[in-house]
Amino acid sequence: MGAMNDLSTPVGRDDAPRAPRQRKPDWIRVKAPMSEGYNETRKLMRELNLNTVCEEAACPNIGECWTKKHATVMILGDVCTRACAFCNVKTGMPRMVDPMEPENTAVAAAKMGLQHIVITSVDRDDLPDGGAGQFVKVIEALRRTTPETTIEILTPDFRGKMREAVEAICEAGPDVYNHNLETVPRLYPTIRPGARYYASLRLLEEVKRHDPLIFTKSGIMLGLGEQRLEVHQVMDDMRSADVDFITMGQYLQPTPKHANVEEFVTPKAFNAYGSIARAKGFLQVASSPLTRSSYHAGEDFEQMRKARAEKLARQKG
Ligand code: SF4
Repeated sequence: MGAMNDLSTPVGRDDAPRAPRQRKPDWIRVKAPMSEGYNETRKLMRELNLNTVCEEAACPNIGECWTKKHATVMILGDVCTRACAFCNVKTGMPRMVDPMEPENTAVAAAKMGLQHIVITSVDRDDLPDGGAGQFVKVIEALRRTTPETTIEILTPDFRGKMREAVEAICEAGPDVYNHNLETVPRLYPTIRPGARYYASLRLLEEVKRHDPLIFTKSGIMLGLGEQRLEVHQVMDDMRSADVDFITMGQYLQPTPKHANVEEFVTPKAFNAYGSIARAKGFLQVASSPLTRSSYHAGEDFEQMRKARAEKLARQKG
């Protein structure tokens, strides 16, 4: 997920006093991002005028991912029309859409030699199509320039124009369509106040309805105050929408103005959630404190592809 957040939800920020930031447990600490690969990735993104969710969402995995030259490109600018209680991306009136962004994204994929690329975006409620057309152009540019690269997209909810947006994007043929539910439905009023849990679920269903071969993926952040049984219910809801891949990671508070961390979920508890998700039938599961939507996305995609092939072979008997 980009970071686990899909950058798609409206604000829950207010001026209420917040608890002091909690000290992160050892399992959350990561190395400072400094390596040749990191610097090269950074330079390339600047040269091509591309934004990444890695930087904008202050992702803790940036050191590891960029060293391996894996970055998640954030299209449609760096200003979001919504402002989430959990998301670090700037809010405001976005700039014009960059017509060079699709080509530049493809050039970045080619220069980095990417086998798998993850593309996400800010929310663009100001655009008539919510930005779906730019997703389509990016997918088309990637197919032209690096036809071997598999494509994963992580989209907003396209509020009010979901069906048309999903249809257009599915027609362009991404390999993986990700849309994050982010949290349990009870917490939507505070964490995703402008989004609707069931609208997001419907989006995931709509992708499968349109093209059952596209892998679907969705994620939630843990540590926002959700209960264990609520997490199990979200898993069931995702499975009923035929979601193939679930990601679960620890929510981290980007700044004191964002939603508090209610709990640091232990690695053991993440493993337990992972086992339950596997038992519920997901083709692929990623569950650990540092899991983010796009963390290890390429490797996970290969495993998911294999799991589907094995499942189909078993069904054939
Ligand atoms: S996990 Fe995703 S958002 Fe975070 S650094 Fe890696 S690619 Fe970027």
